[in-house]
Amino acid sequence: MEMLEVRSLSKIYGGKVTYRALTDIDFTIQKGEFVGIMGPSGSGKTTLLNLISTIDVPTSGEVFLNGSNPHLLKKRELALFRRRQLGFVFQDFNLLETLTLGENIVLPLTLEGEKVPIMEEKLHSVAIKLGIQDILHKYTYEVSGGERQRAAIARAIIHSPSLLLADEPTGNLDSKSSRKVMETLETINKAYNMTMMMVTHDAVAASYCHRVIFIKDGQFHNEMYRGENRQVFFQKIIDALSFLGGNSYDLSTIRL
Ligand code: ADP
Ligand code: MG
Repeated sequence: MEMLEVRSLSKIYGGKVTYRALTDIDFTIQKGEFVGIMGPSGSGKTTLLNLISTIDVPTSGEVFLNGSNPHLLKKRELALFRRRQLGFVFQDFNLLETLTLGENIVLPLTLEGEKVPIMEEKLHSVAIKLGIQDILHKYTYEVSGGERQRAAIARAIIHSPSLLLADEPTGNLDSKSSRKVMETLETINKAYNMTMMMVTHDAVAASYCHRVIFIKDGQFHNEMYRGENRQVFFQKIIDALSFLGGNSYDLSTIRL
């Protein structure tokens, strides 16, 4: 089943000088698929994510989630749509420092007015899946970057969104923590059959995806499927990136 469908999506930023950031992007993501988006800096990745997450509006084209177009919703319904159907993971974790990890994680349920026993049950089950059950009472400054990101992932999925969106989730992590976070995302994808779309410039992170879509200058460039072997996929991604060019790929920073 198609979970996400993007049809002829284009974005032209207005202002004194207009800028065409995306041109006629078409793709679909199946339920349970884990898709990576890669491309040189300025190629339109964040723009694409913002149009799908309804943070920004397309100039033309459509986005369908489970068959309906969220951009047609009124302001209030749109806010509910985002809160219920989407989960977000960012590079900088976005956790509140004045709350414990556990309190951060249940925030989406708190906003929905969920009953406390149900919140505790969901917190317990998601924390075990992510291996953070022993640090839920800690504050963000008491745990590592990788643990923070796993808590952020827990918060992004605790309300069972239809689609998990991640923008450079390993961008602030060392290589060991990055792998752990990617293994966590892989686990969640399998355990909950969660549909996920991740923007990344990290070839190792991308190699955990089922499929990677490459964009260049705001246009679809090509896509590659992972198949069985992650190492082989990693090498193919590296080759594709060097072929794509752009000065964004400092290979010395790629984590092996
Ligand atoms: P990426 O995430 O791939 O680095 P972005 O989607 O952030 O790329 O940006 C794509 C292009 O659109 C860039 O050239 C950027 O400068 C331009 N852009 C992004 N946001 C805006 C905006 N709000 N107004 C004008 N131009 C923008
Ligand atoms: Mg970006």
